[in-house]
Amino acid sequence: MKRRNLLKGALLSPLAFTPISGQTKSIREQYNLPDVKITKVKAIATAPNGIELVVVKVETSEPGLYGLGCATFRQRAHSVVTAVDKYLDDFCVGKSVHNIEDMWQTAYVSSYWRNGPVLNNALSGLDQALWDIKGKLANMPVYQLLGGKCRFAVDTYTHASGKTKEEVAENAKKFMEQGFRHVRIQLGGYGSTHLSETPDYKKHGFGHPADNTMDPYAYIQGTIDMFEHVRTVCGNKVELLHDVHERLQPMDVIYLMKQLESYRPFFIEDPISPENRHWMETLRQKTSVPIAMGELFNNQNEWIDQMIQRQIDFIRIHISQIGGITPAMKVARLGELFNIRTAWHGPGDVSPVGHAANAHIDLAVWNFGIQEAVRFNDKLRSVFPDAPYMDNGYMHLVEKPGLGVDIDEKEAAKYPLPKFNYNWTQLRKNDGTSIKP
Ligand code: MG
Repeated sequence: MKRRNLLKGALLSPLAFTPISGQTKSIREQYNLPDVKITKVKAIATAPNGIELVVVKVETSEPGLYGLGCATFRQRAHSVVTAVDKYLDDFCVGKSVHNIEDMWQTAYVSSYWRNGPVLNNALSGLDQALWDIKGKLANMPVYQLLGGKCRFAVDTYTHASGKTKEEVAENAKKFMEQGFRHVRIQLGGYGSTHLSETPDYKKHGFGHPADNTMDPYAYIQGTIDMFEHVRTVCGNKVELLHDVHERLQPMDVIYLMKQLESYRPFFIEDPISPENRHWMETLRQKTSVPIAMGELFNNQNEWIDQMIQRQIDFIRIHISQIGGITPAMKVARLGELFNIRTAWHGPGDVSPVGHAANAHIDLAVWNFGIQEAVRFNDKLRSVFPDAPYMDNGYMHLVEKPGLGVDIDEKEAAKYPLPKFNYNWTQLRKNDGTSIKP
């Protein structure tokens, strides 16, 4: 630690940053940066709330210096752990921690085939951990390295739901009283599956007993009625959001969004599935409701056209799904040029390290739109000390060098990954045809 403190002192001295002109020097010589090497890259899997979280820890040759990054892909957590421990570790050991962009580009193609969510999450863990290390070396929070603050805190939306429109409105009011200015409203779960009657496919023994059923028309009408009621009860000042979760046919979602126009949604989230993305042009022409897209995106070919053709208003990528802070900053800058704001995906299946990464970008980019709120309970905070916190509807970071969130590995080990059980993705129509979740 002594040596580290000495190095920190050197880094903070203005003289230490004066380049030596006319000479070819290594980074270490020019800027007095310690030549820090990666000594280990490992995955830490934990589930304090029963939700599988994967974090990558990058250890270095500098005693006590390490970085953390989010690599959480809940549905395939074990696969990400393998990708990190069996492949990324070997790829990274012995390399410098300094050149994040080069590390991202070379690791990205190191499997030759790329763009998949498993490898992108592993890469995100590495990428975010290297940003964490860079912040610690510079003795600055990561948002400072990204350009500094554009706002004092991160404004957020929270989720109000209920089985009836009255329950949804009551819950929305409670959140407004807590200071939230933006509330996402959902009648029941995604697609309002509680509104469907016992489907014919179950009577005939088709599918799995735990499969969910969605009646698209019950969902559409229920959502229109919910918006009308919540606007009446909660007034016009609050911003209302809603997530279609890609579950409707394109023409059905056009009908729904046209009906919602008079209730002025802040945005409608993921109106169609990525597979139907060529319907975006038609959707855009038919409604004035702002559109947020991108939770399921994995690679640039899925978002570039939609952004440069101005078919969306908010880009809401799940940052670890595209490989971390490095690609997310490129998406954010592209958005600025095309008047598209950010609304990064921030559910419970993002680790506190990942939520902090979202927030660092949110603070630093001009075209920030909104962030999904999160509240960490004591169990999660015991594993991830100094996780971001909420106040009056705003998310705040704990001001520390790097991403600011730590991990207690002993606490993390108390919560092993649970047995795989994901039926929420399994959704069917009345006749049993599966619906994209
Ligand atoms: Mg969503």
